[in-house]
Amino acid sequence: MAKPTQADAEAAVRTLIEWAGDDPDREGLIDTPSRVARSYRELFAGYEDDPRSYLQRTFAEVGGYDELIVLKNIRVVSFCEHHMLPVIGRAHVGYLPRNRVVGISKLARVVHGFSRRLQIQEKLTADIAEAIQDVLQPQGVGVVIEAEHSCMTLRGVNTPDSTLTTSRLLGGIREDARTREEFLSLVRGG
Ligand SMILES: [Zn+2]
Repeated sequence: MAKPTQADAEAAVRTLIEWAGDDPDREGLIDTPSRVARSYRELFAGYEDDPRSYLQRTFAEVGGYDELIVLKNIRVVSFCEHHMLPVIGRAHVGYLPRNRVVGISKLARVVHGFSRRLQIQEKLTADIAEAIQDVLQPQGVGVVIEAEHSCMTLRGVNTPDSTLTTSRLLGGIREDARTREEFLSLVRGG
């Protein structure tokens, strides 16, 4: 199946505007289909991304460091695959290294690469954890995501400020009670 073009996407947005009850030819809306298509291109850039590739380059000079590494408060901007509405939140990503580490900005890039797709939060959390486990092969991985789902907070059951928390713990962060508690307390530490 041929991939739809920018013009196809614009035509679809125009249809939605008309379906909503407005006139896509009025001045304020005339360029809206092209803006929406371009912003979706950016917000769904994860489909053109291979987040695992960010984890390939690692550093072995760690001076014997073998404690938890946790990057907190990575902004998550994703879209729920059931309503195509924004899911906005924060991810906390940690791992227990095994002889090598990855540049910390790469952890954020992995989160962004998997977020900028149609997702459910549960799968997003698992995708991030499993990519780090598979490529970096640390002793353990922990990923916690807290996010607000616009499909819940703006419509439907209308529960403003409700957030969903998901976690995926692998290896030593899952199995070793002390390591797990240390990771979770670092994440909770605000
Ligand atoms: Zn939804």
